[in-house]
Amino acid sequence: MNNKLYDKLIFEYSCPGRIGVKLPKNEFSAYTSPLPAHLGRKDNPELPCVDEPTVVRHYTNMSTNNFGVDTGFYPLGSCTMKYNPKINEEIAADAVIAKLHPAQPFSTVQGALKAYYTLQSMLSEIGGMAEFTLNPFAGAHGELTGLMVIHAYHDYNGDYKRDKVIVPDSAHGTNPASAAVCGYKVVEVKSLSDGTVDVEDLETKLDDTVAAIMMTNPNTVGMFEKNIPRIAELVHGVGALMYYDGANLNPLLGIARPGDMGFDVMHINLHKTFSTPHGGGGPGSGPVGVRKGLEQFLPNPRVVKSDDDSYQVVCDGKESLGRISAWLGNFTVELRALAYILSLGADGLAQVGKLATLNANYIKASLDDLYKLPIQGYCKHEFVFDGLKDKSTGVTTLNIAKRLLDFGFHAPTIYFPLLFHESLMIEPTETENRTTLDEFIKVMRQIANEAISDPDKVKKAPWHTPVVHPDDTQAALEPKVTWKQLSDN
Ligand SMILES: *Cc1c(COP(=O)(O)O)cnc(C)c1O
Repeated sequence: MNNKLYDKLIFEYSCPGRIGVKLPKNEFSAYTSPLPAHLGRKDNPELPCVDEPTVVRHYTNMSTNNFGVDTGFYPLGSCTMKYNPKINEEIAADAVIAKLHPAQPFSTVQGALKAYYTLQSMLSEIGGMAEFTLNPFAGAHGELTGLMVIHAYHDYNGDYKRDKVIVPDSAHGTNPASAAVCGYKVVEVKSLSDGTVDVEDLETKLDDTVAAIMMTNPNTVGMFEKNIPRIAELVHGVGALMYYDGANLNPLLGIARPGDMGFDVMHINLHKTFSTPHGGGGPGSGPVGVRKGLEQFLPNPRVVKSDDDSYQVVCDGKESLGRISAWLGNFTVELRALAYILSLGADGLAQVGKLATLNANYIKASLDDLYKLPIQGYCKHEFVFDGLKDKSTGVTTLNIAKRLLDFGFHAPTIYFPLLFHESLMIEPTETENRTTLDEFIKVMRQIANEAISDPDKVKKAPWHTPVVHPDDTQAALEPKVTWKQLSDN
């Protein structure tokens, strides 16, 4: 825990006369200020008077108030908070790379373009697609780009009446949002009690006004869509395309490929599966892949390899949907992904999916006597509990999530997917060892027992975090991000 003495706001340490810097002599006093007089400061700024050790201790303590994969277990379902090897960070932070400019002559950035091209090709192999673009900056941006490819394809065929996109009710919220931003009407398809798409319901919604279906497989409840060949047949049968949300590719890596399942267009979140630290809004990268026959609709610019093995950046093809980003995407995220793929190799990548699946099933089987498991059977990389089995004590998923913080664990994803009232979605990832999983299981069992023996202990948690009970709504609507002195006394 932090040293509480230095846990206050920096202004609260202020003591007139204390100073931590030595300012140089003002050499400009001889000149008149370039600012008009009425814009000049009349009083001295209200800066805190603090010495250097206080400032260092304050900020160092504050930096440890944040939770990250590097500080603890982070089983946040659907987010793949895996450990990101530091070698990838070192490569991305290389001084040579930091100085590259996207407008440099191609002859001076051949190495960077080769890295870009190599990653494109590797993702095509991993996804079973013909070609990838790395331009989109996030998963949602990839979804929009992929849907724009689908739109361009139907337009190219003069097939203008297709104005609907089908999305399962279990889908990530970005799916219907992206479809709407792309100008489509969103049609929801139901899930069966085992969490997979209801094929009968789907059949009633398919006709020649459907542009595409967006699917996640394994889906957001961690179940593999076994009917995917039949679904692909039905969707293609009415001339629509299959879109694959590959934000979480962890369970499939090296084992199965969306392209082989009949998907036409897909995106991948490099910042989830391919080892870029994420959270707090970035940085991200959402490459989009397409099957053969759709390459010409991908956005510009593109990196191509010439016959003499040199690389060029090109903007051509009148069928391209145009630009969706200023340059070639988030290059340092792309480099991390390339470093990750190369360091694991094909065999290592195939282990990722197996271990992620094993870890999820291990936790599930170790807790399903105390937590309600709405969907039976083996899961893939993640699974969902519907709160506690014994709901008589009124302890909710929110209470459990907050109590976990007391033990140094990040909470799982809660109240998503919306299929269940008390969703608690756990994704351990492949990078956690058995000791960590066992410790998490022990704590989850302890919380379930506390819910019966001492429910208030869970309901009033957390007890040991720097901030205990923020007003969730007000904290989001009216965050206080600057310091204000409350009163003088
Ligand atoms: C995270 C996620 C997305 C969105 O990715 P962003 O990079 O956050 O835009 C889309 N679909 C699924 C299934 C996801 O888990």
